[in-house]
Amino acid sequence: MSHRIITWLVRILIAFDNPHIHTRMPVIGGINFPVQTQGRCWELLIRSISTPPGYPWLAEAIEAGFLHCVLKSAAENRNLKHVKIFLSSILPFGFISSSVLTQLKTGLIQDLADSPQLTASSSFELWKGVASVANTRIAVLDAWETAGRHSSLACDNMQCGRIEAKRKFKCCAGCRGANYCSAECQSVDWQDGHQLVCDDLRAVRFRYPELVHPRERSFMHALTHHDYQCFLFQISFEQVMFMRDHPGDDLIVVFDYTKATGVEFKVDPRARLPGNADLAAELPVQWVRHARSGGRMGLHVMFVGEACECKARLFLLRASSAVFQFGLKVLARSTMFPPDSADEQLHDKHGVSALIEKTKGRFTEIH
Ligand SMILES: [Zn+2]
Ligand SMILES: [Zn+2]
Repeated sequence: MSHRIITWLVRILIAFDNPHIHTRMPVIGGINFPVQTQGRCWELLIRSISTPPGYPWLAEAIEAGFLHCVLKSAAENRNLKHVKIFLSSILPFGFISSSVLTQLKTGLIQDLADSPQLTASSSFELWKGVASVANTRIAVLDAWETAGRHSSLACDNMQCGRIEAKRKFKCCAGCRGANYCSAECQSVDWQDGHQLVCDDLRAVRFRYPELVHPRERSFMHALTHHDYQCFLFQISFEQVMFMRDHPGDDLIVVFDYTKATGVEFKVDPRARLPGNADLAAELPVQWVRHARSGGRMGLHVMFVGEACECKARLFLLRASSAVFQFGLKVLARSTMFPPDSADEQLHDKHGVSALIEKTKGRFTEIH
């Protein structure tokens, strides 16, 4: 489907909402549109923007004024079924995309929240919930755009781990997935194990080309990073509990972005990861890097909604020091969190919160 068709569909819907042509068929580009067209347009729009990869179309529909159509319909109690589908499932899945949030940012959220028509409508509560999640994500988007100009990386030579501005690094020409501060570091890392994963990493990139634009992927990474820091205490606590109950097992932090209410996270065994083909190919390779990092790298999976499907994407987050991860392991083995401890004892000031406090200055997560 051509991109421009989305804009056309929205223009037709807007024409139907124009009070001056209420009794006539709207004429757009010399074509008359009968009233039944309105329902068809809604269905076509909803169907196309919920098809992977629907986020470019969602952004385009918002830009063309679709949100105003949706909320006008809601205020007048028309097309409510479609309005609810849009507000509760389609719009929230776009909140992990920078292009959708950029469109929402341009005053739409505030303008619409102040509309008296909308405030009186039955969908107002739904809109309020959605708008509050959108506002949080827009704040992350702003921070990401500001930081993007001088974002930092860590040298992939695990013995070096130097952190510098992105532009100071050169990446491996084979896989383009490893970054080094110098030729010496690249050669050390090659001997140290990168030669074992370089081909596989390259194969993953070429065999499973992302449906998602690299800019969107980078924003998803920033979002995971932001949420990780917001929920650091809870996630670390879950990690300690996991390590206590499954000593020696591999764990993975899962962020679920398929809920309209925001993000939910949990700590899971690596083995329980549901697969999509590209994740199944990427996971063993990234796991080797994770294992070599000595606790500096954490594997994070985000579940994202793409139409009716739920996809999993893998992200590596790396800390500037391994002290924190090491501390979590020590806590898990300590007697501070015995297997039968009651909930109120779990928030021990000498436990996870104290560790976070102690390592604060030395614990920076980078991409
Ligand atoms: Zn280096
Ligand atoms: Zn490589």
